Amino acid sequence: MTRAADALVALRERLAAVSPSAALDAELLLAHVLGQNRAALASDPARVLSHAQTDALSSLMRRRIGGEPVAYLIGRREFWSLDLEVTPEVLVPRPESELLVQLAIDELAAVARPTVLDLGTGSGAIALALARERPDATVTAVDASPAALAVAARNAERLHICNVTFLTGSWYGPVGAAQFDAIVSNPPYVADQDSALGALAFEPRLALAAGADGLDALQLICAGAPVKLTAGGVLIVEHGATQGAAVRALMSQSGFERVATHCDLAGLERATRGNSARLALESTSGPGE
Ligand code: GLN
Repeated sequence: MTRAADALVALRERLAAVSPSAALDAELLLAHVLGQNRAALASDPARVLSHAQTDALSSLMRRRIGGEPVAYLIGRREFWSLDLEVTPEVLVPRPESELLVQLAIDELAAVARPTVLDLGTGSGAIALALARERPDATVTAVDASPAALAVAARNAERLHICNVTFLTGSWYGPVGAAQFDAIVSNPPYVADQDSALGALAFEPRLALAAGADGLDALQLICAGAPVKLTAGGVLIVEHGATQGAAVRALMSQSGFERVATHCDLAGLERATRGNSARLALESTSGPGE
C-alpha cells in the first residue's frame, strides 16, 4: 500500500539524480497519475495509490530518468499562465520565451488593434499568450509542421482564444503581402553540432537546430522582416545566449533601427528587437526628386 505522500518523497529522491527540478517533476507526475492538480496533492497526503497508479508512476519515473521532458510525459506545460497541451511534435515552451511575450506587450501598448505575426509557433505558446493579453489583436501564427499546428489549434480552441489564425508553411511563405505591426519568433537557433542537442533529443530537431552557427533561421527572419512590417513596426526574436551581437548585426544590416538586446531572468542575452524604418522614402530620395 503506497500513500501519496510517501510516493512523492520516493519519486523526488529518485529524480534528484537526473533532474534539477526533481521536486516539481515529482509533484507534476504524481498529480498526473492521480488525475489531480498539484494543489489537491498537498491537501490529501494520506490518499492511497491503486496498483495501476503505482505502476503508471513507476513507468513515468523510468521515462523521466531516461531524459524525457515532464511536459511530454504529462502532455501539459504552463506558459504565461496558460495551460498548454504539449506533444513531442512541439518544442516544450520555456520560461525564457515569456520575455518575448512581455517585450511584445510593451511594444504594442500604444497600438490599437495590432496585427502580430508569430513565426515558428510550435505549441502556439507565444501567439496564444499575446492573443490572450490583447483580445483586440489579430494574430497570425505560422509553422512548417502541420502536426505542431494541430497542437496549437487545439490549444487555441481549448483556451477559447479566437483571435489567432494558424497557417502552415515556411516562415513568411504563407502570409503573402500582409504587413504586421509586430513580428515575433522563437526560431531554431542551436548550432547543428552543438552538444546541447544531446540533452534535447526528445524535442523536434526542426524546432532547435539551425545550421553551422545556429543563425540560419534568424538570418532569414531578419532579412525578410522589413517588407512584412508596417512603417516603424517591431521585430522581436529569441536567440541563444551568445548570439546577441550576431543578431543585432543581422537586424542592423537589414535596416532596423533602435536595435537592442534584452536579457532573460538568468541574466543571459535572450531576445533582440528592432524597428523597421519609419521614413524609408525620405532617407533615400531628396526633395523634388
Ligand atoms: N532555448 C532552447 C534551448 O536551448 C532552444 C530553443 C530554440 O532553439 N528555439 O534549450
